[in-house]
Amino acid sequence: MSRELLKQWIKESENIVFFGGAGVSTESKIPDFRSVDGLYNQEYDYPPETILSHSFFMRNPKEFFRFYRNKMLFPDAMPNKAHIALAKLEQEGKLKAVVTQNIDGLHQKAGSKEVLELHGSVHRNYCMKCGKFYGLDEVLSQEGVPTCSCGGIIKPDVVLYEEGLDSQVIEKSLNYIARADILIIGGTSLSVYPAAGFVDYYRGNRLVLINKSATPMDSRANLVINDPIGEVLGELL
Ligand SMILES: [Zn+2]
Repeated sequence: MSRELLKQWIKESENIVFFGGAGVSTESKIPDFRSVDGLYNQEYDYPPETILSHSFFMRNPKEFFRFYRNKMLFPDAMPNKAHIALAKLEQEGKLKAVVTQNIDGLHQKAGSKEVLELHGSVHRNYCMKCGKFYGLDEVLSQEGVPTCSCGGIIKPDVVLYEEGLDSQVIEKSLNYIARADILIIGGTSLSVYPAAGFVDYYRGNRLVLINKSATPMDSRANLVINDPIGEVLGELL
């Protein structure tokens, strides 16, 4: 049984790194934004990838924030079993880091400390003029384009299309992956750049893929589990 093997490996390991994508949060009822506003239910004039781009933000912040508040912010979402199990593994000293493509902050809400957020976080927001920091509450409490007390626009610390990832976050993530004895990848099809390339830095022979459907990386994995990630990791609790 593949799930039994995973349990055995985790038991033996002291250096697990987890790499996760949108699928980790869908069980917390946060949909993948790429799946929203489909062909038959168009509420916006542009595809999400356009609205969530840097140039669109600069050109039309009002429409950006309408989409962002409706489709990207889930302040009431709670961590699911996957988040909770990963936090527990860290507390036990087994898991060294969570590398995530998600921006929802649910790993921290579950108690994880070392979380590397490749795409930033909705919980951090900065004034574009004076750099003042704001939490999520400020973005939620204002209507339209949120502004700073100085008059500047408050921009979420979320990596938009056309923007580069933080090089320090990438470097730290790759260091953890290179040292890991188990790399667990979950809730991502690994088709989105730069996730696919991250796997190349793993040098071990216990690469675990947990995803509901098959991914292009399956043939490289040492263990593939095609089940919901909350269910699989929840068994460790
Ligand atoms: Zn300001």
